[in-house]
Amino acid sequence: GLRLAVVTNQSGLARGLFTAAQLRAVNARVEELLGPFDSWQICPHDERAGCGCRKPAPGMVRAAARALGTTADRCVLVGDIGADMTAAGAAGAAAVLVPTATTRPAEVAAAPCVRADLSAAVEEILARAALVAAPTEGRRAGTVLVARSDSAGDVLVTGPAIRAVAASADRVVLLHGPRGRDAAALLPGVDEHIEWPLPWIDGNPTP
Ligand SMILES: [Zn+2]
Repeated sequence: GLRLAVVTNQSGLARGLFTAAQLRAVNARVEELLGPFDSWQICPHDERAGCGCRKPAPGMVRAAARALGTTADRCVLVGDIGADMTAAGAAGAAAVLVPTATTRPAEVAAAPCVRADLSAAVEEILARAALVAAPTEGRRAGTVLVARSDSAGDVLVTGPAIRAVAASADRVVLLHGPRGRDAAALLPGVDEHIEWPLPWIDGNPTP
């Protein structure tokens, strides 16, 4: 399954609206109803503290990713306000908005992805995870065209991606430009090379 973390602003702590013990009791109940969670990230500060953890700052999203043993760009944050979406974006994570009574229409309009409820958000996340999952045994692609039509360094750094494609394809055809020719020749996993100057890379446009 997927690893789960909670990232939550709890400025009520700083403002004295509730005690740390009360917060722990609420979190324990949330854990009981929705968990177990692999990590809890809680910002106890109020807005004026200017901390790096309070959403929309990305601190808690990054910390949660670290606690889960991954990076934020491999995480999806589900939230109900714009600050959640902003925090996710600032950390490099994907985000799904599930509107509640407190969500403003502008926040819904600006969200990268909106789902009606938590189960629909989970479905969306699982569907995306399936798209990037390693291909299962026996499902091989035929011939795959990889296009990397710029300089030698750019072609070289594509090497690991080409090997990943080659692992599940019958044949890999690499399209490269003249400036990537020497680097392309070094890459393993390529069955055929097509050299093609693209006008926006190798062209010589008049000013
Ligand atoms: Zn904070």
